[in-house]
Amino acid sequence: MVEVRGVHKSFGALEVLRGVDLTVGAGHVTAVLGPSGSGKSTLLRCVNHLERADRGYVAVDGELIGYRRGRGVLHELRERQILRQRAAIGFVFQNFHLFPHLTALENVVEAPRFALRRPAAEVEAEARALLDRVGLADKADVHPRRLSGGQQQRVAIARALALRPKVLLFDEPTSALDPELVGEVLDVIRDLAAAGTTMVVVTHEIGFAREVADTVVFMDGGRVVESGPPAQVLDAPRHERTRAFLDKVL
Ligand code: ATP
Ligand code: MG
Repeated sequence: MVEVRGVHKSFGALEVLRGVDLTVGAGHVTAVLGPSGSGKSTLLRCVNHLERADRGYVAVDGELIGYRRGRGVLHELRERQILRQRAAIGFVFQNFHLFPHLTALENVVEAPRFALRRPAAEVEAEARALLDRVGLADKADVHPRRLSGGQQQRVAIARALALRPKVLLFDEPTSALDPELVGEVLDVIRDLAAAGTTMVVVTHEIGFAREVADTVVFMDGGRVVESGPPAQVLDAPRHERTRAFLDKVL
């Protein structure tokens, strides 16, 4: 379970998050929608402590991310401990971010093998199974430049899964893809949802959010304007700003 509580974040004078609360239950999928600049990516980056919140906190399965409590105040964790926590929070980026010099299989093997120092044979067997799960068993030895965008993104998902994360964060996983490749990536995310993976997905794919998300969150101006089941937020929004946004994207 992911808990975001009262998270504020500014860049200089620009207040990007103005007190965000979010709860994602175990096995649930939350879709985050909102206009450009509303703070969606910053929120995801605060969840795994790629950005440090100015106020508020994030906890995953009850464990505070980036900090420990001591004498009533928060102390930031050491980099090693933060990296350990981050390994349990999978992140899938808009632009895939694969290692270009490694094959698909090597991309998936890299973190469990060298960051977690797990045994090579076991990690490789698991990586092959993950590539199979995202429909890329036959691409194990291919480098990213020879894969389509949709295939690269599926490798990135397999790579995130290889760390056996407690939660997976997706930042617009299909918005860099040609339209005909969007479906194959959404299918993989749909399968993960069916398998009970806890996920937060920033997306502009309203149809996908309606179908797969348990909760839809609409953000604007660094705040959660409204959240609830897809049928409520997407089909009967309570706030004018949500309505205006949906009118534009639908
Ligand atoms: P988009 O839909 O375009 O991806 P977003 O909702 O993800 O938008 P963010 O990327 O979170 O929005 O950015 C929110 C605001 O914070 C923007 O005005 C952006 O320019 C600013 N911002 C984000 N990261 C930084 C940074 N590292 N330094 C300064 N400003 C930043
Ligand atoms: Mg963004």
